[in-house]
Amino acid sequence: MARRRLHQIGLTDPMHRRLAGMLGSPRSGLFLVAGPPRSGRTTTLNAILFGIDAYRYHPPTGIRPLTDVAVIEGLDDARRAEDALRRVHAGQRVYATSQACHASQAVDLLRQFGWPPGDLSGNLLGVTCQRLGDAICPVCREPLAEGAAEAAWRFADYLPGLLIDEVDPGTFWEARGCARCRNLGMTGRLGVFELSEFAPAETTAGKGKTAPGVLPLADPAAPLLTDCWRKVRAGRLSCREGLRLMAEIRDAGRLGAV
Ligand SMILES: [Zn+2]
Repeated sequence: MARRRLHQIGLTDPMHRRLAGMLGSPRSGLFLVAGPPRSGRTTTLNAILFGIDAYRYHPPTGIRPLTDVAVIEGLDDARRAEDALRRVHAGQRVYATSQACHASQAVDLLRQFGWPPGDLSGNLLGVTCQRLGDAICPVCREPLAEGAAEAAWRFADYLPGLLIDEVDPGTFWEARGCARCRNLGMTGRLGVFELSEFAPAETTAGKGKTAPGVLPLADPAAPLLTDCWRKVRAGRLSCREGLRLMAEIRDAGRLGAV
């Protein structure tokens, strides 16, 4: 399969811009690409590395290309966490995958693996976390014939702030299958993402921002659920696939599974 680029993996435009901006930053530190097995982490990591190559060989004006980059696939134990810390202290930018189910769990795991609070707040640059769903076929998709109101209620179970009255009945889609999608109703996979970006500790001190070690999220699954809902409303995930993904995201959050 061809290597995908950052704008092809399903990031929203604002997420794509923020992530692309971080790639051009000269800061050393650790960036985690998190998600359970088969969530598309490797595709995202490769897209990030592709982006770094682009900066390295064709740096935008005024941006100093970062040349000292290391990759750790599977930062899932104390030994690899220590390796990452050593590299970061040596001035490297480290990109690593983590099997955490959401970003705040990735930070928790890093702490459990021995990263001191000062490094968590100073040397962790950011975390993406993701799941993969089936992208609805854009040729044969059509508005859900019946059950839109019921679907809205089911989505509201996952999205406490969702106002049922404001959900357009035409929001939900299904696909019957066509020649283009070989009657599958889907065309490839689509990522659902969260992106947390952490500023260096010295710039956040005294400004009321929270260090990444203590993310103030009442529901750590909320960013992923929100992006999933965004893609259902945009007609990129079918109603059924959106609900399946939401259940998967919610279950992993409840179990705290790693
Ligand atoms: Zn189709």
